[in-house]
Amino acid sequence: MIAGLTKSGDASGIVSLPNSRFRRKQRTADEIRAQNDAAARQRLLIVKKHKATRLHYDFRLGHNGVLKSWAVPDGPSYWPGSQREAIQVEDHRREYAFFEGVIPEGYGAGIVLLWDWGTWEPLESCRDVDASLRGGHLKFILHGQKLKGVWALTRMKHSAGNHQKPVWMLAKEPDSFARRGTAKNILEEAPNSISTGRTLEEIGESWYQGRSKNELQGELFAE
Ligand code: MN
Repeated sequence: MIAGLTKSGDASGIVSLPNSRFRRKQRTADEIRAQNDAAARQRLLIVKKHKATRLHYDFRLGHNGVLKSWAVPDGPSYWPGSQREAIQVEDHRREYAFFEGVIPEGYGAGIVLLWDWGTWEPLESCRDVDASLRGGHLKFILHGQKLKGVWALTRMKHSAGNHQKPVWMLAKEPDSFARRGTAKNILEEAPNSISTGRTLEEIGESWYQGRSKNELQGELFAE
């Protein structure tokens, strides 16, 4: 069982979700601090499906109080033979981890769908996560709802050449969760939100209905 995540997927024990605001107001600063510390210690796995200029998946691993982030244009694959390019982007704040909706303009503008969540843990050989990230190779176990088993991120040599940002490869390691290349693709098998079951289109359509711009802004930038 994943600490902090119940079977129904309620993640309000970890970070602030819109429906947890009222409860949060009634808690003391000490309680909030304790919760934030617990969240910081927890290795959170977050995968967003993001329809920006180009559809991609944001692969995020909680570490040291932030979310280490990679943009994976083709999404993760359970087939160990399929390495997926993962462009490392800036660390993201934990507070936005569970956001699902529309970013109207600016950085990341587009529709954001919460595709998977859970926790992760480094393999014993990568227990020093910072050293592994610096060295360009991190092997880890994912305990997501969709992504499970052993995976690896490997930074490509000279990756800063053509790209502005370091390019890694995200790949499934062989284990009992791995699938053959001919097996059904997890992206097609489970395309919708792990939080609400909605499609990208449904999130986009419902976002502006019956809500003022101020409400939207408030939700976007709430804590
Ligand atoms: Mn993105």
